[in-house]
Amino acid sequence: NNGRVYNFSAGPSMLPLEVMENVAEQLTNYMGCGQSVMEMSHRSKEFEAIIEDAEKNLRNLMDIPENYKVLFLQGGGTLQFSMVPINLLKKSKKADYIVTGTWAKKAAAEAKKFGDIKIVASSEDTTFSYIPKVKKEDFRADADYIHITFNNTIYGTHFGYIPETGDIPLVADMSSCILSEKIDVTKFGLIYAGAQKNIAPAGVTIVIIREDLIGFAPAETPTYLDYKVHAENGSMYNTPPCFTIYVAGEVFKHILKNGGIDPLNKLDVEKAGRLYKFIDESKLYNCPVQEDSRSLMNVVFITGDADLDKKFIAEAKAAGLVNLGGHRSIGGMRASIYNAMPMEGVDALIAFMKKFEEENA
Ligand code: PMP
Repeated sequence: NNGRVYNFSAGPSMLPLEVMENVAEQLTNYMGCGQSVMEMSHRSKEFEAIIEDAEKNLRNLMDIPENYKVLFLQGGGTLQFSMVPINLLKKSKKADYIVTGTWAKKAAAEAKKFGDIKIVASSEDTTFSYIPKVKKEDFRADADYIHITFNNTIYGTHFGYIPETGDIPLVADMSSCILSEKIDVTKFGLIYAGAQKNIAPAGVTIVIIREDLIGFAPAETPTYLDYKVHAENGSMYNTPPCFTIYVAGEVFKHILKNGGIDPLNKLDVEKAGRLYKFIDESKLYNCPVQEDSRSLMNVVFITGDADLDKKFIAEAKAAGLVNLGGHRSIGGMRASIYNAMPMEGVDALIAFMKKFEEENA
């Protein structure tokens, strides 16, 4: 396989090999136009077709209704931590956050710069090992929006339900789970996701926003931070991250060609299921995440001995299973098994874990 390793990185992470090979083939001369997408004017007819197709295919994949805009922005999930409150704190200037990990915490801390932010639920008491169950009555009735982190990349948790928020727009950070499962977009006012896990190389952030939420940024808002500017200009107010958008579009086409999100989700469920089952049955490894809150994308586990964890990560790397270290803030192990990780990669990991367990019993 071209000397390629199984890369369990949390992001940037593996992309479909077939897509990268196609991109490589077209790299210096895209579709016979004599230039690379890297060199191409974003105002060219070729690039306009690329971005239009990317949007059309994403809409198709996720069933995004007409009354939602799809934006291709820069600044990562991190800039959305600011853009969301700047644009959506329009009336009461109140927003409620569910804090389920580091990214959720950062999102809430950023929002506090702009309004009255309440943490309505948090799982920090158990090092974010579960997703709190929240009811509509838990939210402030006059909140401008509710924010959740749908998949928690560092702690390996995932919302198994969509909180009921009534008329209050629900905002979700889907950076580490977008396109891994069919979700009902109409349940959300805004969805955002950095591309660098399930979609493309780093550099583009997808924002899916209901139209009636656009147009409320205060007058002093920096131009780039106003969703309205991007919505009115088809994500081309300024130079977009052209090459990344192109690769994202190729990934969307690839997923569509293979039957859309459902078969991918089936595979993701199977991959994660095998890994969790093995961990739960093993004597050496332990997954600290509550069963109903486990992520399909980020599988966190430990041996309970920090030195043994280090040894595991080093020996796995030598065996071609790379980036299995947990986030630098919590240690342990984390296998990120996004859409592009094949079943064979998960099976190879399980085989390695078995062998390591036998050798270190
Ligand atoms: N949200 C989530 C769920 C993430 O996993 C990350 C990064 N891994 C971020 C936000 C921050 O994204 P970025 O690095 O694109 O700013």
